[in-house]
Formats: sequence, structure tokens, C-alpha cells
Amino acid sequence: MIIHIDMDAFFASIEQAINPRLIGKPLVVGSRGSKMHTVVCAASYAAKRLGIHSGMSSRDAFKICPNLEFVRADQSKYIWTSSQIFKLLENFNLPLNYASIDEFQLDLPDSQNPVSLGKEIKQQIYSNFKITASVGIAKTWLLAKLASKIDKPDGLTLINDDNFKEILSKTALNKLCGMGGKNGQILMDQGLKTCWDLYLKLPGFFDNCGKFRETSGNSDEAIQKPKSMSHSYTLPMAQINPQVIFAWIRVLSEMVSGRLRQDNLVSATVHLWLNGPQIGNFGAQKTYLEATSDGYQIYLRTLKIMEKSRLKSPRIRAIGVTCSSLSQPSYNPLFSEEIRREELIKALDRINGKFGESTIFPAITILTR
Ligand SMILES: [Mg+2]
Repeated sequence: MIIHIDMDAFFASIEQAINPRLIGKPLVVGSRGSKMHTVVCAASYAAKRLGIHSGMSSRDAFKICPNLEFVRADQSKYIWTSSQIFKLLENFNLPLNYASIDEFQLDLPDSQNPVSLGKEIKQQIYSNFKITASVGIAKTWLLAKLASKIDKPDGLTLINDDNFKEILSKTALNKLCGMGGKNGQILMDQGLKTCWDLYLKLPGFFDNCGKFRETSGNSDEAIQKPKSMSHSYTLPMAQINPQVIFAWIRVLSEMVSGRLRQDNLVSATVHLWLNGPQIGNFGAQKTYLEATSDGYQIYLRTLKIMEKSRLKSPRIRAIGVTCSSLSQPSYNPLFSEEIRREELIKALDRINGKFGESTIFPAITILTR
């Protein structure tokens, strides 16, 4: 049996757990700080009941509820909580899958009682984090995921042979994972309204779509992947102009990030190395909760390292940027700004791949030419 765990209104619930004043109130988490000019990326259940939902403009949300509570999204908090929940689930010693930042799946042998384990998981999550999860249990992850949505929030639903027909008959087809968009619409236009209609048409669909794919314990991958990636450059003469030094750091950050993206890796640790007549060899690094393969982020992180080290207008002769703590990206971008940013980077990679390196380049790097 597959146990699918879906956190309820995850970001909003975390904010409420941290600030109990917000508990029970209509609350939205906005992807940006200016509350009238952003997109709702999570809504509490009190807000959902008023018709507010993620993806909506915050202006529309405030029209529905002028007293709405607003919190700016803080990704690191959500990623940290998600990783802690993952760790908690690892303790059950079952094949475990990270489905998304707020969804997890366990594969349970037939010998164990899935309902009592589901209850145990819900209870442990609540007692550790003061947030609730909805649990769905079924033969495949597709059905288990569907089951987790049936009794939200704080629900637990088992789909078995006894209630399979009953549940599928009353569940609209577009509630099924992957059927929310065009695919679902095409089938609905053909007269398939419920999940049961789909089952009658394609009986094998629910068995074949939904085989468990474990993502934890991928130690072979960890052994093979590189430990770090770096680029360095020695200037023709010691340079004192900070703008030119920054420009070179940006170039090196972009080069490293390009290699990270090529290998589908992200990096959490940035290391900056500088060499100059007064400072000799300087090196410092910082590790962040959010791993990245965005050259601009890597650049900003190296600048922070420089700022902290208070190197007073040093003469710099050589520069190196290294990215380590490499991993495969575990999340798709969460917020609309991030999705746009990721698409922009992909488009730039495609253009530079086709027409040559640095066909399009960050403006600051012109100082290195
Ligand atoms: Mg959720």
C-alpha cells in the first residue's frame, strides 16, 4: 500500500504555527512583500472558505476580505520544515519518496496496517510542528494522492476494493493528478466526467499510472556526482576598481552556474578566493539552506562574503568562485517570480547554446572586455 502525505495549506500553516495570533484567521502568504502587488502563494483554510486561493492576485484577495492577514513568503522556513518532516518520515524505515515540498509517499508492506500507520504519522507531524497533514492510502500513488485530497484538512482516507467504485464515481475527473489542465479538459469534452468514467474506459490506467518510485537512499548517485565546481581567473595586473572586480566575479559565477545547470545540479555552498599583493590568499565560504544554479544568486552570495570580510579596497590579482554541497534540485520553483526567473535562465542557456557563449550576457560583465 502507498501512503501519500499531503500537508494542509503548508506555507500558511507554518506561519500560523510560528505566530499563534494568526491561527484560525483568514491569512494569505504572498510571494512578494508589497501586499497589494503580489500573488497569493498559499491561503489558510479560513481564507479558502471565503473563496481565496493560491494563484489569485493579492488585490483580489483583499477585495474578498479586507481584514485579511498577510505574510510575506519565507522559502527557507518552508524548505527547512519540509526537510525536517522528511527526516521524521525516514525514521519509519520504509521506501520514501519526496513528491514535492509538502507531499511525501511511503511504500508499506502488506503485513503492516496502513491506517494505524497513517494516524501515527499525522500525530507525529502535529506534535513536532503543530501543523496538520492529510493522508491518503491506496494501492498506487495516483490513487493515494487522490485519497489524500478527499477529506482535507487533517483527513485520512483509504481507497480499497470495497469503496473504489463509490469514491471514483463521486470524484470529478479534473481532481485527479495530471487531469487538472488540458488533458483533463480533452477527456471531459469527450464525456468523461468522473474518475469512474475514466476507469471504465481505461481499466488499467489506475494500476499502471502510479507505480512507486523511491527517491530516498540514492547513495550511488551521491558517490558519482562531482564534489565541487570552480572557475578562477588571473588578471593581467592587480586591479583596484571594485566594479571591475565584481564584474569578474560575475563572469566566474555565470561560468560555474552554467556547468551546474548542464549537470542538473544545484549548489548550497559558495566559496570565494581572492589573491592580491596586500591580502595574500583570502578565502571564505558560506552555506545556504536554498541550493541554487542561478549565476546571479551565486554572484550575490560571493558579494555577501566579500562584504562580511571587510577587505578594504584591496588590490586583487586573481579571483576564484567555487560551488560545493552539490545535489540534484529537489523542488520545482515555488513562486511565480521564481518560475519566471527559471524560464528566463533556460531561454538564455538555449540562446547562448545556439549562437555562442555570452551572446547575451549580464551588463556588468562588459567591464571585463
Ligand atoms: Mg498540500
